[in-house]
Amino acid sequence: EPVVKKNFIHQIIEEELKEGKNDGRVHTRFPPEPNGYLHIGHAKSICLNFGTAQKYNGLTNLRFDDTNPSKEETEYVESIKADVHWLGFDWGDREFYASDYFDQLFEFAVKLIREGKAYVDDQDAETISSQKGTPTRPGTESPFRNRIPDENLDLFMRMKAGEFKEGEHVLRAKIDMASPNMHMRDPIIYRVMHAPHHRTGNKWCVYPMYDFAHGQSDYWEGITHSICTLEFEVHRPLYNWFIDQLKDGEYRPRQVEFARLNLTYTVMSKRKLLELVKDKHVNGWDDPRMPTISGLRRRGYTPESIRNFAERIGVTKVDGMIDVALLEHSVREDLNKRAQRVMGVLNPLKVVITNYPEGQVEMMSAINNPEDPEAGRRDVPFTKEIYIERDDFMEDPPRKFFRMAPGREVRLRYAYYVTCTDVVKDENGEITELHCNYDPETKGGNSADGRKVKATMHWVSATENVEAEVRLYDRLFLDEDPLGHKERDFKEFMNPDSLTILDKCYIEPFVKQAKPLDSFQFERLGYFNVDLDSSDEKLVFNRTAQLRDDWAK
Ligand code: ATP
Ligand code: MG
Ligand code: MG
Repeated sequence: EPVVKKNFIHQIIEEELKEGKNDGRVHTRFPPEPNGYLHIGHAKSICLNFGTAQKYNGLTNLRFDDTNPSKEETEYVESIKADVHWLGFDWGDREFYASDYFDQLFEFAVKLIREGKAYVDDQDAETISSQKGTPTRPGTESPFRNRIPDENLDLFMRMKAGEFKEGEHVLRAKIDMASPNMHMRDPIIYRVMHAPHHRTGNKWCVYPMYDFAHGQSDYWEGITHSICTLEFEVHRPLYNWFIDQLKDGEYRPRQVEFARLNLTYTVMSKRKLLELVKDKHVNGWDDPRMPTISGLRRRGYTPESIRNFAERIGVTKVDGMIDVALLEHSVREDLNKRAQRVMGVLNPLKVVITNYPEGQVEMMSAINNPEDPEAGRRDVPFTKEIYIERDDFMEDPPRKFFRMAPGREVRLRYAYYVTCTDVVKDENGEITELHCNYDPETKGGNSADGRKVKATMHWVSATENVEAEVRLYDRLFLDEDPLGHKERDFKEFMNPDSLTILDKCYIEPFVKQAKPLDSFQFERLGYFNVDLDSSDEKLVFNRTAQLRDDWAK
């Protein structure tokens, strides 16, 4: 069992609370950019931000970081809200958008210009970046750096009025071209972009850069802890510089960085996931193979399993790679406690019980969930013809194979002891059905004389059942770290066999009433849930996870 690591952010907060900082207030935010669907990495951030506020009786804002209209869409906003809710968190009426602050941010930029702390640069992006220098060599000052405020103001207003094309002019903060921190070398804070915004429409054709919007939004919302991933550590001086120009009083938001979640056998950047969706390598953002929250939900993951996973991996300052088997372990552990058990046969082989009465249907009493006594029992119909799993029979078994074989007695779970008497084959030698005898004295699965059998097998009546399609998933990538290969595209490492569709599976009648996303354990096989593609005509199941646990081994 992995040890729950101590959360260093909680330690920071407890120190601050002791000192009476922020009047004991804890206020976090989850700030997604609505440019794609959320993934399991975001789930870690959601659990951390909302969980931290809950722990200290604080608040959490949901803030959409929507400063780049070319990539953002309302569809993404809606999916993000649905995913956060589904994970079990609620932001109440604290739903914000960076675009709500476009006026305030513009005013703030004007203030910086007036104070001589920002200037309009007429150079193109390439030239500006060529002047940045290196960490050990100072950058070159732009020839426009010493423009007087009035001229800067005039140009900035004309940028806003739409007089310029994209890239003709940018607004830069005037900080320090020799700073050892590259982000402090006169960063671009506003750019011209002739793109309609999903919320502000055509009102703006200048948009603030992420760094110029994020900290200020935190400040205006009264955020105390702006929790972000480690790559923003080097942005922190700039974050603080803007807050210094803005603040009037004691309060300031504090940026705290933690290590992002990386998982083996997958990729997690929205840009990469979008590529998989656009190029149809997967069937949409919620494809059950995707590491998206919507994909995991469709796959049968529960919110609890994801929250437990986030808790287990802990919060650290060191980047690393988490074994995806731990995520799979978390869902197995949760479903083991709550999933209804049923019997289902994925690769059917027909068995005729020759001495069983024709047309008889006997109800066998089965346990719904051995982990939950309250779950009770159900009846499973037993008939003369049944299906077993093709793998559960071998005509010529090796020594360690204890399941069905000619002449051998085995137990059919909840039903009878049966012995295989005949193997029926077609002209190609392919086994088409088995004939068995049953012992009527073994009803329920126990013999009166106490004789033992070595195997208990699942089965489904061949006449009283539900036919279903079952989708088996394997990892989307064959490589542990598909992004870890220089000069090779991550898509080269995709698993060509990540989806297997079995279209004639038989499940006991209990699942007839199942609704999309309902989860079951198919005994001996794994956890399966009803897919969103399921209809009254055709039941479709996803395999959430196999029973075998790669983590616990
Ligand atoms: P992506 O790589 O998916 O584009 P991002 O950081 O650009 O990630 P945002 O929408 O900006 O995506 O992220 C919202 C919040 O989620 C941010 O605070 C970000 O730090 C956090 N976050 C994103 N990815 C991860 C991850 N893998 N692990 C932990 N937190 C993450
Ligand atoms: Mg981001
Ligand atoms: Mg991103």
